[in-house]
Amino acid sequence: MKLTLKMKMRPLTRNKEWLLEQSTEAFKDCVNDWLSAIVQLGEKPNRGNLHNFAYRAIRDKYPQLHSNVIQDAMNLAIEIYRSWLKNGGEFPEFHSNVIYFKGVDVGIENNGLVVPLMGRRVYLPLYVPKKYKKYLQYKHGRVIIKRIGKEWYAFISVHVPEKEPIKPVGTIGVDLGYYNLLVASDERGREAMRVQGDVLIKHKEYLEKLTARRQQRLMKKFGIYAKTNHKDRRFVNDLNHKIAKELVLKARQLNRAIVLEKLKGLKKQKKPKQLRKMLHRWSYADLISKITYKAKLYGVPVIFVSPRGTSKTCSNCGYYVKNFKDERVFKCPKCCFEADRDLNAARNIAKKGFNLISEFFHFKKQGFQHIEEVRE
Ligand SMILES: [Zn+2]
Repeated sequence: MKLTLKMKMRPLTRNKEWLLEQSTEAFKDCVNDWLSAIVQLGEKPNRGNLHNFAYRAIRDKYPQLHSNVIQDAMNLAIEIYRSWLKNGGEFPEFHSNVIYFKGVDVGIENNGLVVPLMGRRVYLPLYVPKKYKKYLQYKHGRVIIKRIGKEWYAFISVHVPEKEPIKPVGTIGVDLGYYNLLVASDERGREAMRVQGDVLIKHKEYLEKLTARRQQRLMKKFGIYAKTNHKDRRFVNDLNHKIAKELVLKARQLNRAIVLEKLKGLKKQKKPKQLRKMLHRWSYADLISKITYKAKLYGVPVIFVSPRGTSKTCSNCGYYVKNFKDERVFKCPKCCFEADRDLNAARNIAKKGFNLISEFFHFKKQGFQHIEEVRE
């Protein structure tokens, strides 16, 4: 699978800084020239007709850019043009400080990149996080260098081999919510993982303390206020990474597929007051996408099921409790089964997925025994 690694560049010499500035400046002009060429072309642009129409002229105008870079500028211009056709508005002008390189033109060595800039091959050193080191040994694709604020960043796409997929003996159902961000259960109701919502509250309190302290200091010194928004976003991102990784490793260890609900938005559930304010910062869609991609990486199958009835059905006997009002404890009037609301829902989700893989294995006439054993 493809991963994109974002890495900050180490401080550059003045000469390398100048080379990058000149190159991104030229790339920007080049993309805008391609956009003008599209207008002159007067028909729907594609890689063939646009290349024939303007490549030679643009190539001659930018001798400092590598020919593959000029082609990437063309592809980018076509993309920009197509999205403008779709979305309308003013005719687009490209103004990012960025440059694209094809994988074959870039070398990765000594924790850095070697790229063609202004007709030379230039080494650009990177800060490589520990967890990225192992990824850099794999074959890389496109490399994008971009200036964000005052810093330069490299975005390197790498092809990471996926782990041999497991043959699941069962499932782990995942319920996402407010009191508990995540509760996971196997199809027999054994809890596999739980992340309580109060991690958000604790973090919020911590941030408030931190901000208050910083504000005092800054007010005293410069008379300005401090902001902490970026720290919030990073926290959510880091926490989602951690949750997703723990879940996927657990599923791999237990030899089980992960079952998620197909959610269009979150289910209508009563939100606790103190959490409500923080929830806009919490992204369940992000958590689901992180779980999905890590699962792929670790060879854990992911199954999506319909959310219908998962919180109102008794996970023990299957009775549908129509008037269940999302209390914290689920009680079944039929079989007297009692369980934490989220655990009951997670088990129902696990069961739905379990039925699906059972059918699949039955259909394939293989591994069916295996599944039966688990059911006992
Ligand atoms: Zn029941």
